[in-house]
Amino acid sequence: MTQSQNSPMGQKKWNIELKQFRADLHCHTYCSDGTDSPEAVVRKAHEIGLSGLSITDHDTIEAYTPELFALANDLNVRLLPGIEISSEWEKTTVHILGYGIDIHSEKLKAFLVEMNRRRDTRNRAIVEKLKAKKIDIEIEEVENLTKELYSNRTIGRPHIAELLIRKKVVSSIQEAFEKYLQEGASCYASGIKYTPAEVIAVIHEAKGKAVLAHPHFIRTGSHLRQLLKLPFDGLECHYGNLHKAQEKPWIARAKEKGILATGGSDYHGQCKPHISLGCSWVGEEVFNALLGLNPK
Ligand code: AMP
Ligand code: FE
Ligand code: FE
Ligand code: ZN
Repeated sequence: MTQSQNSPMGQKKWNIELKQFRADLHCHTYCSDGTDSPEAVVRKAHEIGLSGLSITDHDTIEAYTPELFALANDLNVRLLPGIEISSEWEKTTVHILGYGIDIHSEKLKAFLVEMNRRRDTRNRAIVEKLKAKKIDIEIEEVENLTKELYSNRTIGRPHIAELLIRKKVVSSIQEAFEKYLQEGASCYASGIKYTPAEVIAVIHEAKGKAVLAHPHFIRTGSHLRQLLKLPFDGLECHYGNLHKAQEKPWIARAKEKGILATGGSDYHGQCKPHISLGCSWVGEEVFNALLGLNPK
């Protein structure tokens, strides 16, 4: 809302932007499996009127260059350093968001290097399983396609899926996952992941806050109860296109635990076109708490 006001002298006129503070705390760039550059996401955030943003690429903080902070500063978009780290527990993938992390932390950097090494081994294992099924595929092709598409650094199953489409082995990403790549499918391989407790510890060591991402994806209530015994600082309650009614129980859960209720869109760009940047967001209080600016 914009208000125009006249000074008592009747000479000076100014506009006061009474803009609501909105921060999208979950999105991906082409540094992982999104399609936009980090700069494009920051510009988009500015265009749609977001006051704050956290880019949370999978297992990488490559997006956070000094140039990106400068751009965000110029556009008046507050940037909260973030990451989404994959962990594995009881054969389930658990995504953990880290906010307000020190992007210069040597421990965090070393952890991510090791994770990438494990990821490479895992990707090669998947490709070997596909080859055993007489599918003509090489790891170099996955790497080249990833570079060609997004100059990505984190190579993952979505890129293998894309290559399988190009090779006409499948006709959609979904089919690639269902037939070959998802947990339980014929060419699935695990082995990248740390446990949720290890990931939380790394985030805390890097002075960040650990948040359980999209808890509605956790398989059972019992899994969730066990997970929430870990020292999380927050729970992602507002997510993508979830309705208010669907978010309510998660907000109650965060409150009951005395942890932050966070949220974001999980925007990935063109590869998930139904999710728009800014469709889920949090206010300034939560944003500041994650930055470590005020007590939780
Ligand atoms: P990775 O980190 O290489 O194991 O790949 C995980 C990514 O694959 C997730 O972040 C999703 O973007 C995508 N993904 C996982 N499961 C599916 C699925 N069933 N259908 C489509 N995309 C999926
Ligand atoms: Fe993703
Ligand atoms: Fe996720
Ligand atoms: Zn995500």
